[in-house]
Amino acid sequence: MIIDLKHIFVKDNSSLPIEYSLDMSDVEFMGEYPLKKPVKINGTISNKASLVRFEAQISYDFEAGCDRCGEYTVRTHTLTFDKSLAVSIEGEESDTILITPDMKLDLDELVYSEVIVNLPMKHLCSEECRGICFKCGKNLNDGDCDCPKKEIDPRLAVLADLLKENND
Ligand SMILES: [Zn+2]
Ligand SMILES: [Zn+2]
Repeated sequence: MIIDLKHIFVKDNSSLPIEYSLDMSDVEFMGEYPLKKPVKINGTISNKASLVRFEAQISYDFEAGCDRCGEYTVRTHTLTFDKSLAVSIEGEESDTILITPDMKLDLDELVYSEVIVNLPMKHLCSEECRGICFKCGKNLNDGDCDCPKKEIDPRLAVLADLLKENND
């Protein structure tokens, strides 16, 4: 959706509510398509004393297997968006100013990039997720498996062998 901002820019104390949803189900991330439901955008573009500002909340469900145990997990994430809009800028570019030279805002493009750069790097079913046993593959959140618990890290095993050799 392209938003024409001209009437906001020229009129002091005007505002435009934004309520929009965007399909991002085609976005592939770490081998999955986690944005199955449309991304929601709720906010306002307002002109206060000739300062045009776009404040919004972008929320989306991230649906994918847990990074540790693989269990299908849905988590809702909300991003806060708050930028000033300007037709041109004097001096250095700033992260808090969005330049809209033709007084048009491509909302889809904005939401797309905002969501993509903020996708979660960690997706867990719970912070306490115990993951799966590397030996038998059992989901350890369902209880312990029967594998010997004194499993040694293969790197430590190499070290242990070295130490043993030195002691022999
Ligand atoms: Zn998990
Ligand atoms: Zn096991």
